[in-house]
Amino acid sequence: MIGNLQQLENNALAEIDAATTEDEISAVRTKYLGRKGLLTGLLRNIAQVPDTEKPLLGKRSNELKELLNTKIEEALQHKSQLQKENILLKEKIDVTLPGRSVRYGRIHPVIKIRREICAIFASFGFSVVEGPEVELDYYNFEALNIPKDHPARDMQDTFYIEENIVLRTHTSPVQVRIMEKVQPPIRILSPGRVYRRDSDVSHTPMFHQIEGLMVDKGVRFSDLKGILTVFLRKIFGKETILRFRPSFFPFTEPSAEVDIRCVMCQGRGCRVCGQSGWLEILGSGMVDPAVFKNVGYDSEKYTGFAFGLGLERIAMLKYGISDIRLFFENDFRFLKQF
Ligand SMILES: [Zn+2]
Repeated sequence: MIGNLQQLENNALAEIDAATTEDEISAVRTKYLGRKGLLTGLLRNIAQVPDTEKPLLGKRSNELKELLNTKIEEALQHKSQLQKENILLKEKIDVTLPGRSVRYGRIHPVIKIRREICAIFASFGFSVVEGPEVELDYYNFEALNIPKDHPARDMQDTFYIEENIVLRTHTSPVQVRIMEKVQPPIRILSPGRVYRRDSDVSHTPMFHQIEGLMVDKGVRFSDLKGILTVFLRKIFGKETILRFRPSFFPFTEPSAEVDIRCVMCQGRGCRVCGQSGWLEILGSGMVDPAVFKNVGYDSEKYTGFAFGLGLERIAMLKYGISDIRLFFENDFRFLKQF
C-alpha cells in the first residue's frame, strides 16, 4: 500500500509539471484529490490494510495530500502570473495618440445674466448685498406692507417652514433688512434664489430674482425711469423701446410694470409676446411710505424707488430659450451653448 502511495505521488507530480494551462492543472487536482480521485479512493480502502500499517499509511497519505495541494496552488499562481505578463507584452501603448481633452465648465446662463446686471448697476453706484433664503414671515411679507390676509400670502404660493418662517418668495426682504441697519443714501442690488409653489414651462419652484433699491433725498420717478431705461438698453440693445405701465405692488406707490417691445417680433406680434408686441420685464415703483415707516425712515425727508426682475426670464428672452426648466436640468448640450 505504501508503495502504491509512492507511485501515486510520482505520477501526480509529473502531471502537475506537464500541465500547461490552468484548466489542465485543475484537472490534475480533480484526478487525485477529487471526491472520486485516486488518492481519495486509496484512502477509502484503508480498512483492508493490516492494523499495524494503518498509522503510517494515514500519516503518509495526509502528507501527500498536503504536498499535492501546495504544488497545485503554486502551479496555478505561476500560470496566472505568466498570463498577466503575456497580456502586458501584447498590449502595446501608442504614445503618439492624442490625449482625451478635458471638458471645460461654463458659466451658467443665469449666473452670466446676473453678473452682467450687477456690473451695469455697479456703474450706477449700486453695491451688491445678499440676505437669507429661509426668511421670517415679517421680512418676506409684513414689513413689505403685505398683511396676513393679503392674497400674495396664499398657502398655494409659498413654502412654509413653520408658521412664521418661509422660503422667501422674492428678494425684497433684503431691502427691509438693509434699511433697518443703514441710513440713506442707499443704492443696493440684491440677487438671489427665491421659491414659489409653481411648476410649468415658465415657472420653477426655485428661480432667481434681482432686487434694486435706491433711497435718498429727492429721488423721483424720473430717476427710476432713467436708470431702468439705461439698464434695459444695455441688456437688450440701445434701440430697445420701453413702456411704463401703471400697476400695483403692496410695497410701492405709484407702481409700474416695465415692458420692452418684443425682441422676437419687433412689436408685430408673435407667440412669445402673446401677439401683444410687448414683453413684461420687471416690476418697479416708488417705495411706499408705509415701508419707510416700518424701518423708521422719515418719508417726508426721503424718497426712493425699488424694482425687481426674474433672471431666468431675462436670460430666456436674451438667449431665445423657450422652457425655463432647461436651466436646471444640467444637460451639458444645453449649457455649453452659453
Ligand atoms: Zn413678439
